[in-house]
Amino acid sequence: MAQFLTFTKTVMKNLFSKPATTAYPAVPREYPERTRGHVEINIEECIMCGMCMRSCPPGAIEVKRAENTWTINRFDCVQCGYCVEKCPKKCLSIVPGYQEPGDAKFVDSVVKPVVEKPAEEAPKPAAEVKPAE
Ligand code: SF4
Ligand code: SF4
Repeated sequence: MAQFLTFTKTVMKNLFSKPATTAYPAVPREYPERTRGHVEINIEECIMCGMCMRSCPPGAIEVKRAENTWTINRFDCVQCGYCVEKCPKKCLSIVPGYQEPGDAKFVDSVVKPVVEKPAEEAPKPAAEVKPAE
């Protein structure tokens, strides 16, 4: 009889309490503050110096100055944050949230857009000096 009462109490409690699980992915996950998610780059600010590449312990970052590309292998990154610390332009950050799951290993590669410099204006001709009469 005591077991039956305990069982009934547990059933009633579970019947009227919120489920312990969440409806992910229908309801997006909320990440706690300071979660180490993934590295993002603001490529516009990057100067292709390669400090992040040289400071990355597992070698997850590749910077190709000649091709203007910054690449990260997400599977190699351990979210240590050294690249964020070392970047002189502060254009790297670790943002909460993980990458979308996929069926293949992938590498994120970002190409820095080439900004065309405005053509320099042709020097104005010197003002004509009239000969003194
Ligand atoms: S967070 Fe760490 S492991 Fe990931 S890319 Fe930056 S330096 Fe490399
Ligand atoms: S350290 Fe910063 S500025 Fe230098 S290549 Fe990496 S992301 Fe770009």
